[in-house]
Amino acid sequence: MSGKIRFAPSPTGYLHEGHLLSALYVWAAAKKWNLKIHLRIEDHDQSRARPAYIAGIREDLAWLGFKYDSESIQSARGQVYEAALQKLKEKSLVYPCYCSRKQLLAENPQSETGEIVYQGKCFYKTREERRETREIINSAPHNLRFIVPDKFINWHDLRLGDFHENPKLQCGDFPIRDRDNQWTYQFAVCVDDIDEQITHIIRGEDIRNSTARQIALMEALGRTERPIYLHHPLIVDANNKKLSKRELAHSLRQDKEAGITPEMLFGRVCHKAHLTESDAPIALVDAISIIMETL
Ligand SMILES: [Zn+2]
Repeated sequence: MSGKIRFAPSPTGYLHEGHLLSALYVWAAAKKWNLKIHLRIEDHDQSRARPAYIAGIREDLAWLGFKYDSESIQSARGQVYEAALQKLKEKSLVYPCYCSRKQLLAENPQSETGEIVYQGKCFYKTREERRETREIINSAPHNLRFIVPDKFINWHDLRLGDFHENPKLQCGDFPIRDRDNQWTYQFAVCVDDIDEQITHIIRGEDIRNSTARQIALMEALGRTERPIYLHHPLIVDANNKKLSKRELAHSLRQDKEAGITPEMLFGRVCHKAHLTESDAPIALVDAISIIMETL
């Protein structure tokens, strides 16, 4: 099998242990299935991305020994996203939403996972109402929502099995561009996965919920062949709890400055992910082999 996999960190901080585990999974999958590795810097959120973090991602990957075949950065791809938006507009699959955060919370139910399930208020406005809204609050901030099809999507995760999910019930029509005119994660990632011909999507379980809606969006954008999905377990603390913000804020770079070696980090992260019995240092090639056996 051949194809392409991506490692896609956001430069909103330096790489931490969660990124490292994800990278180990991506490089293990690439080795197992003979895939090219693409580094995608997901800086679609320009209010949080920082040049120092972008440089940091490249430096940390080099220090750890992760080599990749190609690279892209979302902030350089505005025209590609514009073109994709046009495609959706031509299919009448986009509408503006003027609801404030407060309104969204007050007027819509929440899913089991605590997500707002948008009920389509701005979609159901009549043409006249929409025109009026625009006339009254011409420059009022609004996001653009993608109309998700109201249907169940069957998809398969190599590790977790089959899923049967309806994004209309999970989140409803979702924003592809936000009120500050920034492309959203969901939109940018789908456009990139199509455009960059990604065949394998290996990422943390925390993003699993996004899969059905991303499949719906990719299909609306014309992708016919679905990527292969695998959502890996996340690092947990000693009490089997998700790592706290504070723990995740601790960067690999801080460890490096404290004299910790990449091998010590691989050992530590594999142990925290319950992949090894002890946290003794291991080589990158061995950490990758250990994970390959679980795929
Ligand atoms: Zn709305």
